[in-house]
Amino acid sequence: MNSYDIAIVGAGIVGSACAYECSKRGMRVVLVDREMVGSGATAAGMGHIVVMDDSEAQFALTRYSQRLWQQMRPELPDDVEYDECGTIWVAADDEEMQEVERKRAYYAARGVATQILGPGALRELEPNLRAGMKGGLLVPEDGVLYPPCAARFLMERAQERGAETRLGDKVVGMGGERVLLEGDSEIRASFILNASGASAPELTTGLDIKKRKGHLVITDRYPQFVRHQLVELGYLKSAHSTVSDSVAFNVQPRRTGQILIGSSRQYGAEHKEVDHEILARMLRRAQEYMPGLGAMSAIRTWTGFRAATPDKLPLIGPMASDKSVWLATGHEGLGITTSLGTARILVDQMTGARTEIPSEPYLPSRVGKEHAHA
Ligand SMILES: Cc1cc2nc3c(=O)[nH]c(=O)nc-3n(C[C@H](O)[C@H](O)[C@H](O)COP(=O)(O)OP(=O)(O)OC[C@H]3O[C@@H](n4cnc5c(N)ncnc54)[C@H](O)[C@@H]3O)c2cc1C
Repeated sequence: MNSYDIAIVGAGIVGSACAYECSKRGMRVVLVDREMVGSGATAAGMGHIVVMDDSEAQFALTRYSQRLWQQMRPELPDDVEYDECGTIWVAADDEEMQEVERKRAYYAARGVATQILGPGALRELEPNLRAGMKGGLLVPEDGVLYPPCAARFLMERAQERGAETRLGDKVVGMGGERVLLEGDSEIRASFILNASGASAPELTTGLDIKKRKGHLVITDRYPQFVRHQLVELGYLKSAHSTVSDSVAFNVQPRRTGQILIGSSRQYGAEHKEVDHEILARMLRRAQEYMPGLGAMSAIRTWTGFRAATPDKLPLIGPMASDKSVWLATGHEGLGITTSLGTARILVDQMTGARTEIPSEPYLPSRVGKEHAHA
């Protein structure tokens, strides 16, 4: 008999959410990470809990997950800083106002409340946006949280139900109901979960996951300067590009009064160092939308790596080639939002329960060329 029902590799927000859900269902869990809880992309992420509509499957997973965050809200400790501040998708021109209309209709048809803002209403809600914006779409149920503390909270809940953690242990292989650790020891479990984010292809060969680098800047405290998560509608165009580097206006109010400024997307940049050219482009873009940001002092800049799949959907489910190996990775820029939905779908599949939303769009078998190695 294996020592554990499941060994989870990766204690980011996705692995932590899976540990939480597995332990809740009575499974014997061990979670392994070469670093700390919430130290990978989770520490770098913005923490925007957002419903997105690039595809029906993306909408379903983001909306499902957002609802799970809302349900969990009464339990979340203060340091998770969950705040339902809403998103405003900012329209700079008439073409983007058409996109506002399309988005409103799409969300309305699926039960998501929104409000169209004209120039006056937008200015009233966000007086520090540049004058001359055409309007925007307010999505009031979207929120923000502080990802590393959210991951730690999920992990602690799992530990209270008996989950074990092995931090500082590097995994060098997985498969055949075994996780191999550097230094030759191994963990045996009936299910092995690769939740190692952008590092997942290093442990499971054949995964089509690319690192997509992002930069963020955080300012000193300027309370009420920004009140909602503000995202330019042009973001949709730039986030879709699979070839070029892109930047977009994307700012977030933190509970501390600080402003988190994003964001950039780059393929092929594998080093963690700040790229000053793309950072300057990103900040210029932010100032085009909010000129006052130029006078603020930034206190920290950092980078992180999103795990990007070709169809922009995560991989959640079993591998075809080794039934003991499962995946929960490839969440690109939405893994904070979709961690809770991912965990539910995964454990429903493992236990043979009916998933609350269709799981097929996220199954690893949709890409069909993976195989494991021990
Ligand atoms: C700049 C930026 C902004 C973002 N903004 C948002 C946002 O606003 N909203 C949102 O929903 N998402 C956002 N994201 C995406 C989000 O941060 C990620 O999708 C999410 O954090 C992925 O979580 P994860 O647990 O899969 O991976 P990670 O957090 O990367 O965790 C993987 C873990 O695996 C461990 N690991 C890797 N290899 C090994 C090994 N061999 N042995 C042992 N351990 C290993 C790592 O140490 C790490 O702790 C953003 C990402 C970036 C980079």
